[in-house]
Amino acid sequence: MVTEILPLGKESLARAKALLLSGELVAFPTETVYGLGADARSDAAVENIYRVKGRPSDNPLIVHVHQDFDIASLVEDVQPYAARLRKAFLPGPLTLVYKSRGAVSAKVSCGLDTLAVRVPSHPCAQQFLRYVDIPVAAPSANISKHVSPVSAQHVYDDLMGKIPLILDGGMCSGGIESTVCDVTGEYPVVLRQGLVSREMIAEVAGRCDLYVPKTGEQVRSPGMKYKHYAPACRTFLFEAEEAVRALACYREYAEKAERVFVLCEDGAADIFPAEHTLLLGKTAQEMAANLYKLLRLAERKADVLIAVKPKERGGVMDGVLNRLCKACAGEEK
Ligand code: AMP
Ligand code: MG
Repeated sequence: MVTEILPLGKESLARAKALLLSGELVAFPTETVYGLGADARSDAAVENIYRVKGRPSDNPLIVHVHQDFDIASLVEDVQPYAARLRKAFLPGPLTLVYKSRGAVSAKVSCGLDTLAVRVPSHPCAQQFLRYVDIPVAAPSANISKHVSPVSAQHVYDDLMGKIPLILDGGMCSGGIESTVCDVTGEYPVVLRQGLVSREMIAEVAGRCDLYVPKTGEQVRSPGMKYKHYAPACRTFLFEAEEAVRALACYREYAEKAERVFVLCEDGAADIFPAEHTLLLGKTAQEMAANLYKLLRLAERKADVLIAVKPKERGGVMDGVLNRLCKACAGEEK
């Protein structure tokens, strides 16, 4: 199959719609990462997503809709705070998990009685979703467990020959996947951290918890149990306070004539050799926007990547740290 990369326009939109309605997959940009879209109402189309990505069949998908789409047709919306969250953060990088009405393929939620719905703010995503006018199931447009794509080229690198069309909307500005928040209960519970932080949600809803699976419990956000976002090179992860050990590790591999790179925040970079350092940025938002771009660059340039955690904690940084840990240490949640 030939994979076309087209800028958003009349022709590419018409082609995208025709492809989706015939059960094919179309990759499209969002403000977080590129999504791999399928007609959420079709079992066969949704199955295609799992097959093309090599995604485990118990890892549910998020349904993407245009901001004017009537979500009442998809989900039961009973908690008053959910409306306040939508008003405060949507369109944007916040996915809300509701009780499902069963209007889309059961394969979207892997048999769960809930449905995750997102309204992306990226102008291309909005144009695309308005034009196709159907609920679009879409995970990140990468091979399962690899680093999520933040450019059309990243999608092409992973899925070339496997999907017919990538809509090119340039580089994603947000950089890490949406926050996933369960709104079925008395108060919201964050299942996956992201650019809308738990603190920001608590401010609007009055309270917000962070879901931490207890040992032995069935995971409520199944995707979180998998190793994720991993670059193809060897990785080591150090605490912010362990920069000296990280430098020793750098020297150990550099002496073996391996291609070694360090990934760290700008403020921690001075002890590492500048030409072998990838700078994450200064703020949590900058680091979120740069993380996957740099992990994808690292796997091209490096045999060994030495990541040093940023110092800050809380807010958006928790989402950045969550992805960095899963990418570089393969920590299981
Ligand atoms: P991805 O699209 O690859 O960013 O993954 C979407 C993530 O959203 C999954 O890994 C799940 O953790 C989460 N998710 C999707 N649907 C649900 C749901 N119905 N309940 C809980 N978590 C969900
Ligand atoms: Mg993903």
